[in-house]
Amino acid sequence: MRFDIISVLPELLESPLGHSIIKRAQTKGLVEIALHHLRDFTTNKHRTIDDYAFGPDAGMVMMVEPIYKAIEKLKSERAYDEIIYTSPDGEPLTQKLSNQLSTKKNILILCGHYKGIDHRVREHLVTREISIGDYVLSGGELAAAVIVDSVVRLVPGVLSDETSALTDSFQDNLLAPPIYTRPAEFNGWKVPEILLSGNFKEIEKWQMDQAIERTQRLRPDLLNNKKG
Ligand code: SAH
Repeated sequence: MRFDIISVLPELLESPLGHSIIKRAQTKGLVEIALHHLRDFTTNKHRTIDDYAFGPDAGMVMMVEPIYKAIEKLKSERAYDEIIYTSPDGEPLTQKLSNQLSTKKNILILCGHYKGIDHRVREHLVTREISIGDYVLSGGELAAAVIVDSVVRLVPGVLSDETSALTDSFQDNLLAPPIYTRPAEFNGWKVPEILLSGNFKEIEKWQMDQAIERTQRLRPDLLNNKKG
């Protein structure tokens, strides 16, 4: 699987995408991530990528031409399954959407900045718009990092124990049950007895009961959703 990310601040993505599981996925050759600087696609000598918004609103808007050039250049090199624009008014990122994206081969992500991008890019070039939550960030880079992180860990072979992604929160619309490790007692705080019993069938039942109880209490909305 490959991600191409277009940004005016690719430096913001280097650290989140250069460590831990995402780094290992790249080292193992399971995932490729390429960062592209939008300013490399400008033609004027100041490498300008933004201009004043038409209309009364204050603020700068990312211009259509450099984005068009960047996307066309990348499209000439490979076919994209999705061209995603990160946007607060996009469809909400959910585990279900991450699962879907993890089956794709090539994904292009465009990060906005300032007031956002010229709407013609959204009308003519973008195939999907994704929001990571109902709040406004200063740029799309952190949103792109969140999208890539949630998708990469689902790519087969990326997690050492492949089943572990399946027991995470939101798969099957349930929150994960509580987890514990050694020591079995710390400070007088005890791990639930059942987990020490060695009876895996009973433990699995306890975990399922816990997952359902936690979901009912903390996120009852999930139980009304269809299976992702
Ligand atoms: N004026 C825009 C917000 C611009 S914020 C509006 O009111 O909708 C600048 C950039 O940050 C956006 O272009 C987008 O790429 C990114 N961004 C901000 N919040 C985001 C969110 N919740 N999810 C995904 N991207 C976001």
